[in-house]
Amino acid sequence: MFPYGRQSISEEDVEAVAEVLRGDWLTTGPLVTELERAIGELAGGHRAVSATSGTAALHMAYAAAGAGPGTEVVCPPMTFVASASSASILGATLVFADVDRETGLIDPGAVEAAVGPRTRVVTAVDYAGQPADYDALQPLADAAGALTLADAAHSVGGTSLGRPVGDLADITTLSFFPTKNMTTGEGGAAVFKDGDLAQRAHEFHFIGLVRDPARFRITDEGPWHQEVHELGLNYRLTDIACALGLSQLRRLGAFKRRRAEIVARYDAALAGMDGVSTLGRREGVDPTWHLYVARILDGRRREVFEAMRAAGIGVQVNYIPVYWHPVYADLGYRRGLCPNAEAFYAEQLSLPLFPAMTDDDVDRVVEALADALA
Ligand SMILES: *Cc1c(COP(=O)(O)O)cnc(C)c1O
Repeated sequence: MFPYGRQSISEEDVEAVAEVLRGDWLTTGPLVTELERAIGELAGGHRAVSATSGTAALHMAYAAAGAGPGTEVVCPPMTFVASASSASILGATLVFADVDRETGLIDPGAVEAAVGPRTRVVTAVDYAGQPADYDALQPLADAAGALTLADAAHSVGGTSLGRPVGDLADITTLSFFPTKNMTTGEGGAAVFKDGDLAQRAHEFHFIGLVRDPARFRITDEGPWHQEVHELGLNYRLTDIACALGLSQLRRLGAFKRRRAEIVARYDAALAGMDGVSTLGRREGVDPTWHLYVARILDGRRREVFEAMRAAGIGVQVNYIPVYWHPVYADLGYRRGLCPNAEAFYAEQLSLPLFPAMTDDDVDRVVEALADALA
């Protein structure tokens, strides 16, 4: 099966990882600091905290933001379940705000109706790679005393009106899963504009350990002492993974360019095809494209999916609306809640997109799509 996404690993990547294995630090060493610094720099000059996955980064970010019982998190349903479930697991109540029918991005109008006095975080997802409209979202969050969170699992390396992903929201989370725009195997990070929030997140991902003597509540215990003020988990990324991440980061620009070329080739081919349409585009954004979204019209999405899989093309569907998951249905969320997300889902089909694809690969996918639609 030709995959819908896959990692690009170079000999330099392999060598960088091997070098760590021969060295002194397998984890919590200098490469963790180096990757966090490099990600922070890429993401607008803010502090980045690494984590063992994008989901862990979201969990850590929501914990730092104070999402919990009695608070609400506003989130779009057109996303991977972790954008929402990592807040639910902290005890926060999810309020789903519908998306734009064309882009799949959270609709600021829906957010305006969804925010209230309990709102702690307004989450947006940079679906497929396009940054959401943070200029519209930030004032709504500010007015409610909430923070904006960009789930940028799809969009690292992109910009909006010249500003990098990472500089667009109060908090930005990234995923380094193999199919994403750069990888550490499993891994992720969260970027914080506020230094205190970043420190809280850092402690959450480090078992809650406080190591600054100036903050100790148990004083004069001894030079070995460290203590816990708030509960945390061990979400530390290894130096092995960070070596891969630093090596990948050097090629992120090349990955972004190749992804854009493939998207342009798909766009040109699909423009002349009946029964299919493309993703709505935002003005002023320069995305790192993670997904190529085809919209299959006339209720034929499932049929086209099955035909393309049968032809050996690993298409995907991203995503079922989050509140359709039985865990949310059990909490009382009903189908029909966000009609645009549901209509978008009904047409959504992700075509293969990864930097190592050749133009011939793209043409082969397009041919299989044309056959499936014929
Ligand atoms: C992949 C993804 C995540 C989770 O990242 P993992 O590294 O797989 O845990 C979260 N949100 C979105 C939108 C994603 O695509």
